Amino acid sequence: MKYLKKIDWNKKNIVKHLMFRGEQALEFRESALKLKQELFGKGVYLRALIEYSNYCYKDCYYCGIRHSNSNVERYDLPVDVVLDACQKSIDQGYRFFVIQSGEIKTRKFINDISFILKRIKTKFSKDVKITLSCGEQCFETYKLWKESGADRYLLRFESSNPELFRKIHPADLNHDFRQRMRCLEFLKDIGYQVGSGMMVGIPSQTVEDLADDLLLLKKLNVYMVGLGPYVEHKDTPIFGANGVLSKAERLELTLNVLAVLRLMMPKINIAASTALDVISDTGRFKGICSGANVVMFNQTPAKYQEMYSLYNRKDCLENNVSENRHALEKNVKRINENFVYCTEEVV
Ligand code: SF4
Repeated sequence: MKYLKKIDWNKKNIVKHLMFRGEQALEFRESALKLKQELFGKGVYLRALIEYSNYCYKDCYYCGIRHSNSNVERYDLPVDVVLDACQKSIDQGYRFFVIQSGEIKTRKFINDISFILKRIKTKFSKDVKITLSCGEQCFETYKLWKESGADRYLLRFESSNPELFRKIHPADLNHDFRQRMRCLEFLKDIGYQVGSGMMVGIPSQTVEDLADDLLLLKKLNVYMVGLGPYVEHKDTPIFGANGVLSKAERLELTLNVLAVLRLMMPKINIAASTALDVISDTGRFKGICSGANVVMFNQTPAKYQEMYSLYNRKDCLENNVSENRHALEKNVKRINENFVYCTEEVV
């Protein structure tokens, strides 16, 4: 297949492939799936997602749990609820956790995360792997969490175009692109397996912007990527902004971004994000068919999931999560792939 031959993934070539549609796009994405299967085998790797807290001191203009959204009922999960959710996940076969929260820098929060990491690693096995996604923190905090048991850290840059980044964040030092880059460096220096990513279809974003995002991921030499389509939330300042692409177009673009990424960085972990399922009933499945090798299932108790509303979504209840999981598993089997719970290994 021509895409499995070496392509020079320069900006011009990336833009060209992002613009593929119809048969041409399907053939291109299929080659990304083939490459993923060649390298990782026919497994889709599962992660148990735990949304630890929806407090956040930041005010990103696209996010439903932003600090200024007073319609959000805020929570921190009690430690025993986190451990129960972990136990339930272990019983189901999961060995990989993602702990996510808004960005909080209080001493209590920092210590609580550290405590939870240690408890997970001692109560379950050292073989359990934990990814944290708790935003920008200082070097010492990242180091403490690493020493407490975190293995990986996901910090998305959202957009590599400073002008676009500015458009979706308040213009202050708490929302500074350069600081985000510094944090990614801290994480690498400390020894995390680092992940990053971006939003696809931000109002007024161009395919050239997305090509730059992909080139930045390459330059950062990330270990994993979490990217997804922009999904509106009614309680955010950019809700209803001019220039929002249709859901169908956001889907097409995101799938092409995933396929380019697989071909450009063959061995990294790429998640088919939940946001894909929000813009299309079979979005995550299509993500897997475009080269993604990881999916996360939300293991947070249902009453808290409803409060962790980054965007308007429909997968908030436990039975919906379980229905989505079964529907996805059925589709995955149709392409001779299987769900795998352990740590991914490149074959
Ligand atoms: S995107 Fe993250 S940092 Fe920004 S408001 Fe939402 S939870 Fe907070």
